[in-house]
Amino acid sequence: MASQKVSWILPIFNEAENLPKLYDALKKLQKQLPNYDTEFIFVDDGSKDSSPEILEELYKKDNAVKVLFFSRNFGHQMAITAGLDAATGDAIIFMDADLQDPPEVCLELIAAWEQGSDVAYAKRRKRMDGILKKFTAYWFYRILRRFSDIEIPADTGDFRLISRQVAETLKTFPEKHRFLRGLVSYIGFKQTPVLFDRKGRSAGESGYSLKKMMRLAEDAFTGFSLAPIALVGYSGTLLAAGGFMGTIIGLLLANSIIVLLGYGTLLTSIVLLALAAIGQYIGRTYQQVQGRPLYILKKKLEH
Ligand code: UDP
Ligand code: MG
Repeated sequence: MASQKVSWILPIFNEAENLPKLYDALKKLQKQLPNYDTEFIFVDDGSKDSSPEILEELYKKDNAVKVLFFSRNFGHQMAITAGLDAATGDAIIFMDADLQDPPEVCLELIAAWEQGSDVAYAKRRKRMDGILKKFTAYWFYRILRRFSDIEIPADTGDFRLISRQVAETLKTFPEKHRFLRGLVSYIGFKQTPVLFDRKGRSAGESGYSLKKMMRLAEDAFTGFSLAPIALVGYSGTLLAAGGFMGTIIGLLLANSIIVLLGYGTLLTSIVLLALAAIGQYIGRTYQQVQGRPLYILKKKLEH
């Protein structure tokens, strides 16, 4: 029987400084897994540094390397999606390129898969990141879990292994606003956590700007919860009650202008918030209906 294959998907956005180290770590893993075929799929997400040239070199010298080049920056979630479309492994590992996801944890992910898990997700026990990242990430996962319709594990990024069957299922999801960790949870099957300590970035800067983080959070909430819209309904109800009481108090005090002014401002802001919440869903629906491709490849290097 031909041996089974493990594919690594590595999204790359300005990682020139990290690529040599990352590649060494991958080759080390390859040596530690003599019973498996391996492939390393790098997806260049419109890097502006010398990452593309380095990737070309890696491709030339190594048959296990595949490289996809995007026509521009489409974002981390799309880079992973493209890698998944190109992967041929029986098990597929998503891993960041900056060595924040310790490569040796992959061996534990593979062990969990060998023992029958369809998804082995790396769950952070500790993380070495800035205060802002730690704080926002901590609350993001907890609020999302509270409001989402499905069980999305806390403190778990995209660092994980998925089986071929889960990969094929994931590929049938056409959605443009992709929060892949949510989609993988949604798919089900046997999912197992593997605990790890997330390191600091090996070199370079985070490619996740505040704007990109906000967008990911919005995709997570709108993709997996209708809570923002429900919240609008609750606040409307509360406000109506407040308005009723305000009117009565205003009447009793005879000097009701201040009460009414405050109430008017509150009402206007709630209406604007309501429109924004509904707009998020309508905007996403519109973009989905446009049916544009999820990403655009400039070039594909495959042996
Ligand atoms: N990344 C990407 N496209 C982007 C931003 C990031 O492909 O627009 C890659 C990046 O090169 C890294 C992974 O996604 O391999 C995680 O990004 P990063 O380390 O910048 O995020 P952080 O760890 O700070 O959340
Ligand atoms: Mg990182």
